[in-house]
Formats: sequence, C-alpha cells, structure tokens
Amino acid sequence: MKIGVLALQGDFREHIAASENSGHSAVAIRRASELEDIDALILPGGESTTIALLAKTFELFHPIREKISTGLPVYGSCAGMILLADRIVGGAEGQETFGGIDMTVRRNAFGRQVESFEGEIDFAGKKVNGVFIRAPWVEEVGSSVEVLATTAGHPVAVRQGKLFATSFHPELTGDLSVHQYFFEEICR
Ligand code: GLN
Repeated sequence: MKIGVLALQGDFREHIAASENSGHSAVAIRRASELEDIDALILPGGESTTIALLAKTFELFHPIREKISTGLPVYGSCAGMILLADRIVGGAEGQETFGGIDMTVRRNAFGRQVESFEGEIDFAGKKVNGVFIRAPWVEEVGSSVEVLATTAGHPVAVRQGKLFATSFHPELTGDLSVHQYFFEEICR
C-alpha cells in the first residue's frame, strides 16, 4: 500500500520508517493534492494545536476531513488521536480537530508527575510497549467505538470503522505490531 503521513509537525519521520519497515511505501503529505492517491493516512504525534493550525495554513484541514468522512483508513497516534476526536477536553481555546471518532479525549491527561512514561499494554491480544508523552486518554466513547487497550482504567487505543487511534507512540519503539494491526486489520 501507499501510506500518506501528515508531515507538518511532529514525529512523522518515525511513522514513515514504521510504514516502510512494514513493507509499504510511505509519502510525506504537505499539500492536498498528495492525499489523492494514498491508501491510508497517518496523523503523527506532536502538538495537536500546531498541527491543526498548520493544516489550515497549508489548506489541508478540509481535504483531510473530507477524506475521513469518505472512508480513508486513518491512524492517529497521541496528537493524532486528539485530531481524530469528535470532542476534546483540556484543549486550547477554540482548538479544532478533524474529528471522525465518536469519543471525548482529554489532552495531557496523565498529569504532571507522570507526563511521560512507558508501560506494557495489552493491545488486541498482544503485549506491546506503550510510550506515553504528554499523552491524552479517552474519557468517553460512543457505541460504535471499539476499545482495543486501556491504561489506568482509561481507553488508550480505539477503533471506529476505518479510523484508529492510540494515546501512545508505537512509532518510537521499533515494534511494528500496532502499525501492522492498522495495515492488516483496518486498511485491508
Ligand atoms: N500533548 C500533545 C497535544 O496535545 C500530544 C503529545 C504527543 O503527541 N506526544 O497535542
């Protein structure tokens, strides 16, 4: 498959590497025309407010919303999860998201003492190393959202149809199993 990775800010290089290491081709997306011939899109970790603002500046905001609503498979990690949420709490004043997943996400949810941490997570029947960096968690989901992993009692990996999001950053671990779940279980 040809995987597009939104490359405005954040750890898009790591998602490009994870996609390529999973046997797919990957392209950095910085303009709307580049969305046209991809099979799936990844929204990286980074800073969700910055990514949303840059998406507007680069005239990608509405094209991405359009792609989400027409069924393109999309995976968002961390800031990318926030960008896929229909509702956020703890957002910046006026912060907008692409939306698509019927969930409320709390930004920077884990609090100061544990801003960043790693821990083993049960993800869709596999143990994966969860790297959390100023991560969000999911506060509440609609009935069509499937929870794939939880940490501290909160969903940290969810799926709704072709949309998939994790609070953590598998792209930083070298373990490809979460990306492969996206490619094999969601994109195909
Ligand atoms: N806290 C960041 C945000 O709100 C997300 C952090 C991350 O992607 N590691 O966008």
